[in-house]
Amino acid sequence: EGIGLYRTEFLYLGSQREPSEEDHYQAYRRVIDATPHGPVVIRTLDLGADKMGLSSDPERDREPNPFLGLRSIRLSLRNPSLLRTQLRAVLRAAIEGGAVDRVRIMFPMVSTLSELRAARFMLRSISEDLASEGLLGGEQVQIGMMVEVPSAVILLDHFVKEIDFVSIGTNDLTQYTLAVDRTNPAVADLYQDCDPAVLRLIKQTVEICQAAGVGVSVCGEMSSRAERALLLVGLGVESLSLPPAAIPQLKKAVRSVTRQQCQAICWRAMRLNTAREVSVFLQRQLAELVPEMMIQA
Ligand code: PEP
Ligand code: MG
Repeated sequence: EGIGLYRTEFLYLGSQREPSEEDHYQAYRRVIDATPHGPVVIRTLDLGADKMGLSSDPERDREPNPFLGLRSIRLSLRNPSLLRTQLRAVLRAAIEGGAVDRVRIMFPMVSTLSELRAARFMLRSISEDLASEGLLGGEQVQIGMMVEVPSAVILLDHFVKEIDFVSIGTNDLTQYTLAVDRTNPAVADLYQDCDPAVLRLIKQTVEICQAAGVGVSVCGEMSSRAERALLLVGLGVESLSLPPAAIPQLKKAVRSVTRQQCQAICWRAMRLNTAREVSVFLQRQLAELVPEMMIQA
């Protein structure tokens, strides 16, 4: 149902030149027109670190710790013209595509309220500019943020007052919670999205969003693994975003169990204290409840 995470970096990664507003607009219109129903969640540029684009900012190449450096929303806010071009294109595509009620804008790797406010401020001013050009309705587009760093979880009760939805990016949340570079093979064994510390942050995020009436989904790779998805459903996650190829298997798993069974899995999993125990437990539960499903390694 719709597009849960539209990664827009590809516009940069596959290009030799800086994409124009028109390049952005055409890409967004294509996806909006091809998805006539359901939400289309467009994530603003998440460049930097593992997703290096055009090197227009030489500062980036000298960064000793790129994952803790100028990436994602930080990079966009440091280069306002870049973000402005993208946001204008998204709003235009939403308005001209008749989809202001379905298109959603999501900011990645938000770690402070100031970042969220700066991005929202820019969006509002662009929406006003477009309105003065006769393109009305931009202010109806919902605004969300990714929860990818622990600071966002810790301050989430404040964040939720200023956004319409949250999406948990478990790939980065795992990396930043466990202090494990997600691209470094030397520490790959420590990169575990079902580590109890990560699970507690997910639980806290879901509870805060539910209490505030803010929609919450999970868009990291975790959601495409059936045994983990059962746990996420048990935690109260109502929406999962995953790559198309993973959808049939995932639907099968989720439709084979009840919410109560997922809650029971969650209750037991949250009492375990190592990633290995959680992982083994979840795989056993899946084998028991959906025996015909191949267990993923
Ligand atoms: C994530 O971090 O979980 C996520 C979905 O973003 P990306 O993998 O693109 O960093
Ligand atoms: Mg991420």
